[in-house]
Order: sequence, then structure tokens, then C-alpha cells
Amino acid sequence: MLRGGCLCGAVRYESDGAPFHQSVCHCSMCRRAGGAPLVAWFSVPRASLRIVAGEPAWYRSSAKAERGFCPTCGSPLFFRSSVLTGEMDITTASLDDPARLPPRDQIYTAAKIPWVATMESLPGFAEARS
Ligand SMILES: [Zn+2]
Ligand SMILES: [Zn+2]
Repeated sequence: MLRGGCLCGAVRYESDGAPFHQSVCHCSMCRRAGGAPLVAWFSVPRASLRIVAGEPAWYRSSAKAERGFCPTCGSPLFFRSSVLTGEMDITTASLDDPARLPPRDQIYTAAKIPWVATMESLPGFAEARS
């Protein structure tokens, strides 16, 4: 069972569906919606997703897609297409254990922010910079 939720805990979800399309997206819409340089996603059969607490709000980000997020804390959670109606995309980082579903590819690399490729070489601190 995959379980996850938003930052404040108001919206919680679970799915017993087999995940697929584990990916990171570099597109400008994910970037803005996530407030992040890239967004990791995976997909599950839409019928397998159960919202077990709260109710996401939906923003229609394009003619064919809506993005679901927590109306209280704003965490991006879901993406649903009106074309691929059998699928629900979920932000990997909203999982309780995101390490379980590593990305297998990258999409929209044409839009990648150049410094994303060099982040791993930056100085690192195990916790906050002191
Ligand atoms: Zn929340
Ligand atoms: Zn994207």
C-alpha cells in the first residue's frame, strides 16, 4: 500500500494500485505549481486512489489537466488528465516514504534549469547551514 499526504496532514491518500511512470518532470508548469526546480511523479490506476482524509482542491492548469492540492497548506499532490482518464499522477515527494519509488526517467528535459544538473556537486550540510 502506498500512503501519503500534504504538509499539514489535512489531505491523506492511499493506493494499492501498481505504480508506473515514475519520473521527474522539468516542465515550467510543474516548476511553478511545485515551487520547485523539478517535480517527481508516479502514476497509479485512477480507481485505486482513495482519499482517506480531507478533500483536495483542483486547479485547471490547462485545457486537458487539473492539479490537486491541499486547500489548507497548498502542497501539490495530484495531476489528472481528461484524456488519460484511467490514470492519476501523484507527487512522489508527498509519499510517506518517497524513497520507495525512485524516478526511472526524466521528462521535459528541454526545460530543465541548467543548475539542476550540478546540484550534487554543491557544498552540503546534513541539516541547516550554521
Ligand atoms: Zn495540507
Ligand atoms: Zn511537468
